[in-house]
Amino acid sequence: MISIHSKKGFDLNITGSPLPQTSPRETPVCVALLPEKIPFVKPRLKIKEGSQLQIGSVVFEDKRNPVIQFLSPGGGTVREIVFGPRRVIQKVIIQLDQEEERVSFPSYTDSQLADASRASLVEAILTGGLWCLFRELPFGDIPDPDIEPPSIIVSIDSREPFQPHPAVYLKGKADLLTAGIKILEKLSSSVHVSIHQDSDMPAGLAKGIVTHRVSGPYPAGDAGVLLYRTKKASAENRAWHISGQDLLLLAELIRTGQYPVERIVTLGGSLAREQLHIVTRMGAPLPHIAGENTGDPPRRRYIVGGIFRGYIAEKDSFLDLYATSLTILPEGDEKELFGFARPGSDKPTHSRTFLSSLKKAPFTVDCGVHGEQRACINCGYCDDVCAVDILPQFTLKSALAGEVEESLAHGLLDCVSCGLCTFVCPSKIDICAVLKGAREAYYKEMQD
Ligand code: SF4
Ligand code: SF4
Repeated sequence: MISIHSKKGFDLNITGSPLPQTSPRETPVCVALLPEKIPFVKPRLKIKEGSQLQIGSVVFEDKRNPVIQFLSPGGGTVREIVFGPRRVIQKVIIQLDQEEERVSFPSYTDSQLADASRASLVEAILTGGLWCLFRELPFGDIPDPDIEPPSIIVSIDSREPFQPHPAVYLKGKADLLTAGIKILEKLSSSVHVSIHQDSDMPAGLAKGIVTHRVSGPYPAGDAGVLLYRTKKASAENRAWHISGQDLLLLAELIRTGQYPVERIVTLGGSLAREQLHIVTRMGAPLPHIAGENTGDPPRRRYIVGGIFRGYIAEKDSFLDLYATSLTILPEGDEKELFGFARPGSDKPTHSRTFLSSLKKAPFTVDCGVHGEQRACINCGYCDDVCAVDILPQFTLKSALAGEVEESLAHGLLDCVSCGLCTFVCPSKIDICAVLKGAREAYYKEMQD
């Protein structure tokens, strides 16, 4: 096993962390697919309002490569297709039947899996609708199934605050994890499985499976950080990656021939009714996960997909395909009386500007940015936390000036969108969003 230490980063010490316990939710009345939340995909619908679906029926395909399909996480009737500006498909909402029916896919026993060819497994994952769980570095697009990747990285724990604990989602699933790794070994001759040294993993499970043990603050456990730390040349920035929980879904599909719909999602944040792991349905409504209805008191923000990398969701929205956390925090946009003179013992700080840096106990955060965007003051705080050493302030400037070559030379493609530079910037510049936009623009330009 290889040990890797990532010095830079930041661990946010805040209240509302989900306990390592699970609480099952009953089956919701409806589920949804959110095509607009899947990066780069151009969806072509295969259903219409009123269509009858089984669990595993095709809902849409990617126009760019129609073999990549997205399946229904529920059996029932398409209740509504919600379009946004420019006819972007935002949601496909499915009203579930009392007795849901399922599509059957080919299944593999352990010995069949051992003898299976790469081509047959690729076909099984494509028709089973889970090819979308693979993402390709450095851009994050769904990879081309016909091209063998240089490596596949499984990240057991990204260490982003409030993501599911490996000890919870892997409990009782050792055989699925082993089967998942065997599937990956058919797809690539180089499979890396990384876990953070502070992560709890069920006893004995790591042995023979984990190839890299990483240490250091968030985002040390990220697949992109591992690639950055292990690559031998700057151009070696291609790899596929998949999360630990998604690998279990993949293994379940191949072993059972059924489209897996169970998701373990964390519910956290100071305003969540409870802080723990929720066993729910892929595409479940957020109020169903939160355990409350949409008539909540205002001034609370729903964040789907992680505190640093997630997005703000409407309270009546749904879990997207990749999301494994729902965090509920105070908005914090109220004006502070004499805020400039307060010592800030209740505000998070990386730069030690506030007295909170002296506190050891977790503190309660809100989503307020406490100020407006100003010009960069070259303080270097963004560089202090950047685990992939791309000098974010300089990459930012070249990206804003449209100097693509210079951004690339700084390491734009190594950025893992961890969000820390934005978090620590005293000038309130959303550096992460600018770099993400520049990377996506470059990728689209390359494809045209
Ligand atoms: S530049 Fe990218 S990797 Fe570095 S801190 Fe910012 S978001 Fe994270
Ligand atoms: S943290 Fe913000 S102000 Fe400081 S160097 Fe980076 S971009 Fe500039």
